[in-house]
Formats: sequence, C-alpha cells, structure tokens
Amino acid sequence: MDRQRQAHHGTEQREEGAGPPRHVRVAIVGSGFGGLGAAVRLRQEGITDFVVLERGDAVGGTWRDNTYPGAACDVPSHLYSYSFAPNPDWRRAFSRQSDIRAYTEHVTDVFGIRPHLRLRHEVQRLTWDGAALLWRIETTGADFTADVVVSATGPLSDPVVPDVPGLDGFPGEVFHSSRWNHGTELSGQRVAVVGTGASAAQIVPRVQPAAAALTVFQRTPPWVLPKLDRPITTAERLLHRHIPLTAAARRGALWAVRELQVRAFTRGTGELRAAQAIARAHLARHIKDPALRAALTPSYRMGCKRILLSNDYYPALTRPNTTVVASGLAEVRGSTLIADDGTATEADVIVFATGFRVTNLPVAERVVGADGTTLAESWDQGMRSLRGIAVDGFPNFLTIIGPNTGLGNSSMILMIESQLNYLADFMRQLRILGGRTALAPRPEAVASWGDFVERRLEHSIWNTGNCRSWYLDRFGRNTTLWPGTTGEFRRLLREVDLGEYEILRTAPADLAAPAVPAAPGRSGSAAVPSTTAPAPEAAA
Ligand code: NAP
Repeated sequence: MDRQRQAHHGTEQREEGAGPPRHVRVAIVGSGFGGLGAAVRLRQEGITDFVVLERGDAVGGTWRDNTYPGAACDVPSHLYSYSFAPNPDWRRAFSRQSDIRAYTEHVTDVFGIRPHLRLRHEVQRLTWDGAALLWRIETTGADFTADVVVSATGPLSDPVVPDVPGLDGFPGEVFHSSRWNHGTELSGQRVAVVGTGASAAQIVPRVQPAAAALTVFQRTPPWVLPKLDRPITTAERLLHRHIPLTAAARRGALWAVRELQVRAFTRGTGELRAAQAIARAHLARHIKDPALRAALTPSYRMGCKRILLSNDYYPALTRPNTTVVASGLAEVRGSTLIADDGTATEADVIVFATGFRVTNLPVAERVVGADGTTLAESWDQGMRSLRGIAVDGFPNFLTIIGPNTGLGNSSMILMIESQLNYLADFMRQLRILGGRTALAPRPEAVASWGDFVERRLEHSIWNTGNCRSWYLDRFGRNTTLWPGTTGEFRRLLREVDLGEYEILRTAPADLAAPAVPAAPGRSGSAAVPSTTAPAPEAAA
C-alpha cells in the first residue's frame, strides 16, 4: 500500500506543515455555502478524511466578506438555507448579512465541520499528478495531497475594481463594497458610490443620511421592484419550531413560485412585462423629477440584468445631498472624479460597488490539470464544464457553482445541494471502482453538455434582453446561468453517468483486475467505459 493510501486509511497521520504533505481523501477549497455544504455531505456519506481549506479567518464565504452597511439577501430566508439545516428562527423574511453569517457558523458547529477547517490556508497551487493520480496542493498554511478536490470558491468572491486612470493619485479612502473599510468615517464626507448593482442599491440608502454629499455613478440603471420584507413574527417562529412541517411548507411554496417564474426568463418572450410595469410604477411613485426618472429608467428588458428588490434605494436618490451621475466613472484627477459624460465631482471617499470576477475566476489560474494547462488557460475561450461541476483535463476535480449553474431568480443553495448529490455519488463510484482511481470527464461529454446549455440560453432574456451584464463573458457568451428550473438541475445531477468519464488507474495490477460492475442504471463500466457521451436531454 502506498504512503497516501496508508494515510487515507488512517494508519499514518502526519502533523500538518511538518514533513511531507498530509494525504486526505478529499480537499474542499472554500468554506462558504458550497464548501460547508460539501463538508456536511461528505460526513453524511461516512467520509471523514477531508479538510476544508479556507483563505480567510472564518467560514461564511461571501456572507463573511460582504459586511457593507445594509447587506442583506434578496432571496427569502426560508429558501436561502440548507434543506438539511432548517432554521425556524429566521428573524426576517429576507435575512440580513449578520444572521446568514451566524447561520453558517451554526452549521459548522452542529455538523462537526470545525475539526476539518484549515483557516488561513489560501490555495496557491493545485496540481494534478497524473502518475500518482492525486492532487498536490500548496497553500499558505500546510500543504496536502488529495484524491479528490472540491473547488467551492464561489463566483462572487474576488472583487473587480475598474482600472480608472488617476485612481492611484486619489487622496482619500478607496475601497470595494465587499471589502468595506469600517474604520473610515463617512459622516460629513463627500462619498462617491460607483455602480448601481445589487450591492450599491443596499449601500446607497445607508450611506446617504450621514454623508455630506453622495454621488452615485450609474452606467446602467437597474430594474427595481419593491421588496416584500417584514419581520417574522414570534407566532410564526414558534409554529415553525414546534411543527416543522409548517416551515417545510413555507419553503416549498417559496420554491414552487420561483420554479414557475423560470420560463419567463428562459423564453425571453415578454412574460416579465407585468413585473416591468410594477417596477415602472415603483419608480414613478418615488421619483417625481422627470429628468431623474428618465435617467433611472432602463432601456433594456427586465430580467436581462439581475432584478433588484428595494424600498429605500429610489427615496435615497431624491434626497438633497444626493446626485445621480448617469454615466460611468472615467477618470480621477486628484480629488475630482470625471465621468464619461464629462461631469466633474469632488469626493473624499470612493466606494466601488463594481462587482466580481465571475467569468475569469482568479482561482482558475492556480489549478494545473492533466496536461500541465491551467484551468484559466483551458477556459480561455469561455468557461465550460460537464453538468456545471466537472471539467475535462481535470480529473477528480469538482466545482461547486461551476459554469452555468447560477440563477436569476431563486436560491443558489438549491443548486449547491444538487451538486452535493453529485459529489456524494462521485465518491460512491470511486469507492465501488476501488484502488487508486480517477474519473476524467470526456471532452465529448463536456461539449455535449455545453451545446445543450448554450441552445437553451439562446432565447433567454439574459442573452436577448439588450444589456451587458456579469452573466456574459468577454465574448458575450452566457457561461454563468442555468437555463432551467432547479428541479430539472437536481434530476440531471442525481447521479454520475460513468459513460461521461474515462476511468484512470495507476498500477498495472489494477488495470489487469477484473471489471468492476457499475452501479445499476449506469451507462459506463469500470473496465470498458463507454466512448459516446449521451446527450444531456436524454437524461432530463
Ligand atoms: P454587479 O451586479 O456586477 O454591479 C456592478 C456595477 O458596477 C454595475 O452597475 C456596473 O455598471 C457598475 N460599474 C462597473 N464599472 C463601472 C464604472 N467604471 N463606472 C460606473 N459604474 C461601473 O455587482 P454587485 O452589485 O456587487 O452584485 C453582484 C451580484 O452579487 C449580484 O448580481 C447578486 O447576484 C449578488 N448580490 C446579491 C445581493 C443580495 O442578495 N441582495 C446583494 C449584493 C450582491 P453596468 O451595469 O453598466 O455594468
């Protein structure tokens, strides 16, 4: 038995950071909802030989990082939580960041994840060793080797600050919405907020009352709907606590409504017209000045960009200390901010609410696959994957919230949980196959899945709504969103189809071993994997 397998079987545990890297069955990268969920799922499957590598000093992912004033979720609390960890005590219909963050800590404790956590372990390099069939993992803490890597770094984790000429010479404070500088006093300051996405719409109403002057740089106006938020009553909480079925029913109803909405986005044929009329009325109700109203009226169809939910964004924009510059930030000259339309604004602080690196993930530059290419190089022409979770050239590597798994209208936790089902089956298949084995996605299976997704996106509002959004990559291709219901995605990821993988083994003895029968219903077999990737539709 080789060294790694001895460690894997628990007979040889090394102190991490001293001597050769410790070997684990699974290394999870990231401890947001995806990484924590993967950890819980592995434990539920009886797998305890894993670590969760986290670059920060706490769990929570995006909900740990985004501490900006007003940070809250725009998906209802009872849906934006794990199905396996219902929380009867949500305090509001839409939770605030602090409550969601506390929930992730709670899940970490209740499901025994803490001993697996390796905080301040930022992954520097993940290299596939094709001879040993394992991943070599270098981190800022200890190094590891792992049979399987689950990359759960999230698409909304690395901020984008636009490369604005002159920004370096700005004398005041500058920070990104997801890296809020709580040490900066905003009261009495001239604050500029750049961007009008979901983050800015929450920040603006909270910053406006204290600021001496607030300028919002708006390149593209968002569609904004009223947010039906309210505190959850004590009676409701008691009911959910003592009769859990009521909480499940509430979640079910929230889920079903959103499932029914999906076609309005994917068909792109105008089903969102009624919602668009509500948004126009919301705008008209709050913005009386015709010039400001015109500036805040989108010229693209609703749904093309993320729809915002807010009751206080528009009112904040009408306050005397607030100015909307309907133009992007083009240049900074000392403390003067110059917009694309030439408007000049003085500022003491600049807040960039300018989004994240979604379609060019920095972590992809650190993952080196079977032929020595990085994941970033492999995705140079656009991200692609098998079922949003596996990538050809990267064996035994699963990405939670991979390409085309994002949603425009529902809870990402639902998508994550579908991917956890797939992860569980992936681990089961490896166990059944036995020995030192790796599953390498077949390029034709990846291509088939990519074509299927692309075809489905063709007529979607995201592709045809006449806007530019973070859903599209630099080629204008939508490599981020899932063009179906969460129920369909769940069905498509229920189990691993071995026909979509090549089975890799190390030792010649293993290669000569008799064929291991695949689990019932699988199209591949261990000894002779199928060479044709079935069309995803067939699996739907
Ligand atoms: P975002 O949606 O990517 O918005 C970035 C904003 O910055 C856009 O308005 C963009 O304008 C603008 N921008 C970029 N460069 C600019 C420049 N030079 N001058 C002026 N404006 C510029 O980022 P985000 O608001 O952080 O949201 C990202 C995603 O995170 C959301 O879509 C959502 O999925 C999630 N999120 C959710 C919540 C929630 O649950 N409530 C809250 C925050 C974030 P263009 O539109 O013209 O590109």
